[in-house]
Amino acid sequence: MNVLVTGGAGYIGSHMVRVLLRAGHAVTVLDDLSAGHADSVPAGTRLVQADVRARDVVLPLLRDAKIDAIFHFASRIQVGESVRDPRLYYRDNLAAGVALLESALDAGVKRFILSSTAAVYGDPIRVPIDEDHPTVPVNPYGDTKLMLERVLASYARAYGLGYVALRYFNASGADVAAGIGERHDPETHLIPLVLEAALGKRELTVFGEDYATPDGTCVRDYIHVTDLAKAHLAALAYLDAGGASGAFNLGTGQGHSVREVLLCAEKITGRRVPYKVSARREGDPPILVASADRAKRLLGWVPERPLLDDIVADAWAWHTRA
Ligand code: UDP
Repeated sequence: MNVLVTGGAGYIGSHMVRVLLRAGHAVTVLDDLSAGHADSVPAGTRLVQADVRARDVVLPLLRDAKIDAIFHFASRIQVGESVRDPRLYYRDNLAAGVALLESALDAGVKRFILSSTAAVYGDPIRVPIDEDHPTVPVNPYGDTKLMLERVLASYARAYGLGYVALRYFNASGADVAAGIGERHDPETHLIPLVLEAALGKRELTVFGEDYATPDGTCVRDYIHVTDLAKAHLAALAYLDAGGASGAFNLGTGQGHSVREVLLCAEKITGRRVPYKVSARREGDPPILVASADRAKRLLGWVPERPLLDDIVADAWAWHTRA
């Protein structure tokens, strides 16, 4: 199929591009390079440097490349920033997503796969979290993703657009063979920060150790970025086979505390990970663990590298690449 990957120069998007190419799809990347890296797009893959709102670029692109499906990754991703400066999120995640959909509908694109987030659930009232858990986002980041999901649901009903929204838990790891991994600026995610601390590049701060969890630190569900990308591929096949539009969680169903991640990193790297403990970070629920049964059942998706050891080992191999 002819597919468009917005944000294909970013962390998850660039892994998606590899998975699509390996599956034989013809890929075009649309990325304004505000956060992505041109060198994360493989040689030979077309990179169109533009904003997803640029209708004069996007509409002809969708038509000329005869795009069958859009994978939409381009977005802002920082919870804290979304609280401090929410207009960025309503503008660049919600309004830009709606503008992209304008072009998609006008070009007759029938399949849309959205990069969504577990942040749509807000503070969990039960774990593991399934898709029927109430969606009450507690920050603008989660809110804008949920609003875009709602737009998609309306468009699916009215215009026959097929969509899948994939709600990620904690994306991590790297595609070592492809030479790509996580490089955000600023980096806010635990695993890369832990590995940079192991390399002596920064000091790690653990945000709170007084949570009602087994060791007092927050528990998260870390999922390998290539497994995430493979779920998107499965979602495309599912839509193509006439599967009903909707949202799916992506996680391993296995939780790990911040302290467990630290210990795992010390084991994998053979180095000490120095850290200090600070107060809790605002907006961090104690435990976020997915029930991904729906994705398993309907998409036929099972994570292939679910173990934290393997996720951290791949991230480490990328962080220490030559
Ligand atoms: N965390 C931490 N120190 C950091 C970054 C993250 O203790 O420098 C904790 C954070 O409080 C959370 C977990 O690590 O419990 C994962 O955070 P991350 O930002 O990677 O992902 P999130 O769960 O916010 O999506």
